[in-house]
Amino acid sequence: MSREVEALDEAKRFLKEEVAPKAQLIDTDLSALHSVVDRMGGLNLLALKRPEKYGGPEMSEQLFRIFQEETARTSGTLAFLTTQHQSAVAMIAGGDNEGLKELYLPQMANGEKLVGIGFSQLRRSGPPIMCAEPVEGGYIMSGHVPWITGWSFFPEFLIGAALPDGQSVFAVVPLVDVPSAIRVSAPMELAAMGAAMTVSADFSSFFVSDEKVAFIKPAGWIQNSDMINIALQGHFAIGCAMAGIDVVRANAGKKPFLFLTDALDKLERELAALKMATSHAQKSADDSTTPERLKVRAWAIDFAVRCAHAAITSSSGAANSIHHPAQRIYREALVYTVSAQTPAVMEATLNRLNDRGGW
Ligand SMILES: Cc1cc2nc3c(=O)[nH]c(=O)nc-3n(C[C@H](O)[C@H](O)[C@H](O)COP(=O)(O)OP(=O)(O)OC[C@H]3O[C@@H](n4cnc5c(N)ncnc54)[C@H](O)[C@@H]3O)c2cc1C
Repeated sequence: MSREVEALDEAKRFLKEEVAPKAQLIDTDLSALHSVVDRMGGLNLLALKRPEKYGGPEMSEQLFRIFQEETARTSGTLAFLTTQHQSAVAMIAGGDNEGLKELYLPQMANGEKLVGIGFSQLRRSGPPIMCAEPVEGGYIMSGHVPWITGWSFFPEFLIGAALPDGQSVFAVVPLVDVPSAIRVSAPMELAAMGAAMTVSADFSSFFVSDEKVAFIKPAGWIQNSDMINIALQGHFAIGCAMAGIDVVRANAGKKPFLFLTDALDKLERELAALKMATSHAQKSADDSTTPERLKVRAWAIDFAVRCAHAAITSSSGAANSIHHPAQRIYREALVYTVSAQTPAVMEATLNRLNDRGGW
């Protein structure tokens, strides 16, 4: 068996046996979530796309998306938190700073080095809110990072900052207060995935040396990357939908209503169709397929919310308990509706919701 398949099997076992029983707990309990992340590191599951050269297992895109779906199916909080670090692994590995790769990548699977990401500010139009000024030996960073998930888990994060010429520099910087240079906010009070500790940060003339720079991207990079990733981002919503379907399946096994089995069949058939459409849409990520990929992403978002709602409906009043998985999954669907959202994704989502209106 190849290493990537072994890693996926181990991840599935870990999720089923060690995470699923704690999914409600780690949604709100910070120390329980820390223990699960530590354990994931103990199993070397925190850098699945890491190239063989730095320790592997260099998981293929296809297997990694299955891993993402299964993680989101088991615990949205764990999926959302650890995906930031897994993205940092892939981004550092894809950069051109060999020294940074040698320093970070070998220690990123077991959690010795944990790195978040904070570059959604590059999506915003108008004057950049996070800027970098080139100076001798590095960059001076000033501005605001509105979203960084993983405070208290990740001592550092990969920041994206706009350069004066329109390019963006990506560098590893501290995710802690640095007197008079970095101020991290209190963790946000969020309706979902609060234990993943999302914060914002303000930078004031913070110097980052060239050694910590992962790469420089041309102007418009994030818009291009968002365009390529339109359908890829839908895998979290697909995992969330699978979680909702799991609850409906459990209820269909317990309650004597045939319509529950019918509803389950329909949801399972739609899930299979959505997975097929997502994989088809991803195969050709160019301008000509953008409308199709936007449709697929909006479908995944809409389906996640509908499956979560089906989980609630089939669980009756019990779904209202803060300890019930159905309401947690519903809240998680909220996050997947807006994460990595662009105006085009927002429009496609609203169009899909409106198309279902009326009788
Ligand atoms: C719980 C949570 C945790 C997150 N954690 C992270 C993280 O760890 N790292 C990270 O990088 N991101 C993170 N994000 C950010 C996430 O990816 C963003 O939600 C997403 O990028 C949308 O950005 P925004 O919500 O800031 O919305 P906005 O700033 O409103 O931007 C959304 C889009 O609308 C466009 N837009 C907005 N206003 C205008 C206007 N007036 N004219 C034209 N276009 C406009 C922007 O250019 C952008 O494309 C997190 C988000 C959430 C909700």
